[in-house]
Amino acid sequence: MMKRLAVLGHPVEHSRSPAMQNAALAAVGLGEEWSYEAIDVAPDRFEQRVLAMPGEGFVGANVTVPHKGAALALADDLSETCREIGAANTLSFEGGEVRADNTDAEGLLRALPSSPQGKRALVLGAGGAARAIVWALLRECATVEVWNRTELRSRNLCEELGGETVADPDPTTYELIVNSTAVGLGGEDPFAELPLRREGFSPDQVVVDMVYGAKPTELLLAAQAIGATTVDGLEVLVQQGALSFEIWTGREAPLDTMRSAARL
Ligand code: NAP
Repeated sequence: MMKRLAVLGHPVEHSRSPAMQNAALAAVGLGEEWSYEAIDVAPDRFEQRVLAMPGEGFVGANVTVPHKGAALALADDLSETCREIGAANTLSFEGGEVRADNTDAEGLLRALPSSPQGKRALVLGAGGAARAIVWALLRECATVEVWNRTELRSRNLCEELGGETVADPDPTTYELIVNSTAVGLGGEDPFAELPLRREGFSPDQVVVDMVYGAKPTELLLAAQAIGATTVDGLEVLVQQGALSFEIWTGREAPLDTMRSAARL
């Protein structure tokens, strides 16, 4: 029987994961036996949908917005990372049990050009993506400050995971800036919505934008223009997807194949 994989989200049709994962399965010779699809699931149907999946030939799934908390809640077995972050993005179905992992945190670290250890980092946002990022950066002993439009959320995040809330950050003072808000996704101007200035980057900074689309974001274009090192959301997506692929298949993920497929 075909081994099925999927990404569960709502909405999910924009996801690059099916193209990326199917290309990876084909590249390692599993294309005839495994397949990966996108499934749109409304929040009130999530648990029921997941529990039916093993009976339909599914061996695993990625989970994206808005289901990462629900995925954690229904799992029988949680990785330590998942438990600490409070969100799951990778499920595996084995022996009648659901195992939950989080590859978002490690994916972000692998996408960075160098270790964030000892660096001063500014994380913008306090949603699901920010939780994994703050956890990952703190684990690597970075100094983390968190800004969010709704300050109560960043305060709650820092109380739970660590890091300091900042209300009015000076972006020039950070070695690493990560945008984990949704700003840019719908064409919003990042320099109007976020505490950043178009000319406020420097060549020695690393700037990450978790938002991804067909074109580089305004934020990354401005950072690149000043000579900062930039990492886009697609590279983070590829790295987290590669880790999920390895959990399910036990094979080394073909990163270059995944990158090309994600960027098509
Ligand atoms: P989420 O839980 O819904 O959080 C959204 C965040 O964006 C909140 O901090 C929210 O602030 C902020 N925000 C939304 N509109 C804003 C605005 N106009 N001005 C300022 N802040 C605004 O979403 P998420 O799961 O964290 O995802 C956030 C982004 O990361 C999305 O674009 C998503 O596609 C991307 N992402 C990428 C990857 C990847 O692999 N590349 C993985 C996960 C997520 P409030 O709290 O004030 O509402």
